[in-house]
Amino acid sequence: MGQYSIGVDLGGTNLRAAAISAEGKMLGKIAAPTDVSRSHAELISSIAAAIGQLRDSLGRENLAGVGVGVPGFIDMDKGLIVGSNNIPQLEGVPVRAEIEGILQTPVILENDANAAALGESWMGAGQGVADQILITLGTGIGGGIISGGRVLHGYRGMAGEIGHITVVPNGNPCACGNTGCLEKHASATAIRSMALLMGLPVTEARDIYDLAMRGNPRARMIFQSMGEALGIALATLINVFNFPLYLLAGGPLSAWQLFAPPMLAEIEKRSFAYRHTTPRIEAAKLGNEAGLYGAAYLPFQAGS
Ligand SMILES: [Zn+2]
Repeated sequence: MGQYSIGVDLGGTNLRAAAISAEGKMLGKIAAPTDVSRSHAELISSIAAAIGQLRDSLGRENLAGVGVGVPGFIDMDKGLIVGSNNIPQLEGVPVRAEIEGILQTPVILENDANAAALGESWMGAGQGVADQILITLGTGIGGGIISGGRVLHGYRGMAGEIGHITVVPNGNPCACGNTGCLEKHASATAIRSMALLMGLPVTEARDIYDLAMRGNPRARMIFQSMGEALGIALATLINVFNFPLYLLAGGPLSAWQLFAPPMLAEIEKRSFAYRHTTPRIEAAKLGNEAGLYGAAYLPFQAGS
């Protein structure tokens, strides 16, 4: 057997780990609930246990390394989580050193949204494209920028916070301190809040979508507004980066036919770079496995 690596995706509800070969073949996968009431030491040991289980089944000698995607801001030099809304007990914890200490294996940390973007560029919809951006529409909106095949980190690792681009100057307040952030106007959560605000009888994204497809004008307005917000953010990104590919992921993607026309109209109107270079805007492919692929790719990339 050739080399393999282990990727971990640590979410607020689930801890998932996968062993993936250098060719991108999934060799094994495990998942466990993330109990956020547990202490940081217990969380670290459950991460190490998941990695250890995969390593034991495949053998230590061919393990290229371990990549861990975590929700939050990471100090890349020190290997610690500076801030995390989902898993606050890991804030300030030297996660990399602690896992390395237990497993005696090198570990690379990465922000979970960045890891997902890297995963799509390695084995997903962005294969073969060196410069691309992934936007994930979920509870919030995550983003990752891949430039020259690598995650763009910025000065202190905080680049790629696409969910906090202002799309409505005096829009909905966001926990980040800003008002009118993209994630407050285009995430799955934003879609549900708009439904509530408009007095729709349903508040689940899927039901709102069905209602819109049946022609309900208020439900359609929600996806119109969400598409416009996304379009404004994408026009800005296209003007700044002039990348050839922008990928969208997450539950709301099933409503593509409802939100894409207003999104594309907005981009067309606001971005001369789009009109002149017509980059691709497409759905991502790997779903919730993107982060696992990206995390697993980190050791291979570091070694190349
Ligand atoms: Zn914000």
